[in-house]
Amino acid sequence: MLHAVQSVFFPHTCAACGTNKLPDNAGICSACLYTLPETGFTRMQANEVEKIFYGRLTLEHAAASTYFTQKSIVQEILHQLKYSYRKELGLQLGEWMGFQLRTANWMSKIDCLLPMPLHPKRKAVRGYNQAELLAKGIEVQTGLPAYSDCLERITPTRSQTTQHRSERWQNMREVFKISKPSYIEHKHVLLIDDVITTGATLEAMGEKILQVPGTKLSLFCFAYTLPH
Ligand SMILES: [Zn+2]
Repeated sequence: MLHAVQSVFFPHTCAACGTNKLPDNAGICSACLYTLPETGFTRMQANEVEKIFYGRLTLEHAAASTYFTQKSIVQEILHQLKYSYRKELGLQLGEWMGFQLRTANWMSKIDCLLPMPLHPKRKAVRGYNQAELLAKGIEVQTGLPAYSDCLERITPTRSQTTQHRSERWQNMREVFKISKPSYIEHKHVLLIDDVITTGATLEAMGEKILQVPGTKLSLFCFAYTLPH
């Protein structure tokens, strides 16, 4: 009975094609998962994501799993992950990222996973932090521990379109805080996020992480937005 009620309010369908033929704990069907445009970046030095940060942030390695394009499956599933309470989707995509990470020859150098934090108000509205779900999925596949309470977002996002670039950057620097620096001292951390576009927020977070003594930083996102 409970299950029947739940399926009315939360239909169990693929986030990309809408089929209801998928395992209980999946958010996307295997056919759609198979068509995601993989980047192969985990096995590629000097890939597009690493290049974004040249001259901006000292990274050991950086990668994204899939390409993001407008009106694509990737856009649809990311939208559902953010706005449709699809926890199972986040965990599944994280496991998919974990499979890819296992093919990287640098995975053994990573000590822990750190999901990009959301402001607590936004997390309450969404019901979860999608980057935390991705990190948990990666943890399942790789055995690397995910620390979800190490980083904090202390300022909510606000419209930045009317501000100057330098002013925006100043604001970004005050957005994040490391609440548990002892977790990551002298560790090589892998920062996890859902999408990378300009890299500005990841750069601001990354700078904070690198202020903790002895840290090394790498980066892994689900999707990478191609420049227009
Ligand atoms: Zn599907």
